[in-house]
Amino acid sequence: MRLLLHSCCAPCSGAIIETLAKDFRAEGRDPSEAMAIFWSNSNICDRQEYDKRKAEILRYAKLFGIEVIEDDYDHGEWLAEVARGREDAPERGPRCLECFAYRLLRAARYAAANGFDTLTTSLASSRWKSLEQVDEAGRRACSQVDGVQWWGRNWRKGGLQPRRNEIIKEQNFYNQTFCGCEFSKGLISRN
Ligand code: SF4
Repeated sequence: MRLLLHSCCAPCSGAIIETLAKDFRAEGRDPSEAMAIFWSNSNICDRQEYDKRKAEILRYAKLFGIEVIEDDYDHGEWLAEVARGREDAPERGPRCLECFAYRLLRAARYAAANGFDTLTTSLASSRWKSLEQVDEAGRRACSQVDGVQWWGRNWRKGGLQPRRNEIIKEQNFYNQTFCGCEFSKGLISRN
């Protein structure tokens, strides 16, 4: 397996990265060769917020020597393709499904073009997200490219949820109080 991990933010990705690195090492593989992180988050509504979150994933991935590939940031395109007509949808509603699908399709395309055969994401590690929606979006994305399989693992299980929270504290991560788009501001959820 050569894995591409789509990352939505460092708080959601920390325990996943740590676990994957450990598992690859146990197989005798160098995590820096077995996987890379794909940062594709045009859902984030302003550049300052985007850069804050990006800095944290870069800092954490460096500890493991894992490459972070940054996708183009284009919130205008995200608004046009994902949010238009869905502005009033609640979290876990149709806008979120299309948001996951938008980002995961970009990740699947990158994976197919760059020698990765498996794709997963940190998106569903937050309890505020719908696992079913993330899984549907991932399967849909991988069905649109050749040679990339979707890995719909439940990253909340196996002790990863408490470890997620420990790493947030250990690393003193910037931990945002809204999901990312302007429509999620003021809601109680976190990414
Ligand atoms: S609330 Fe989060 S997942 Fe839903 S559309 Fe906004 S950024 Fe995307």
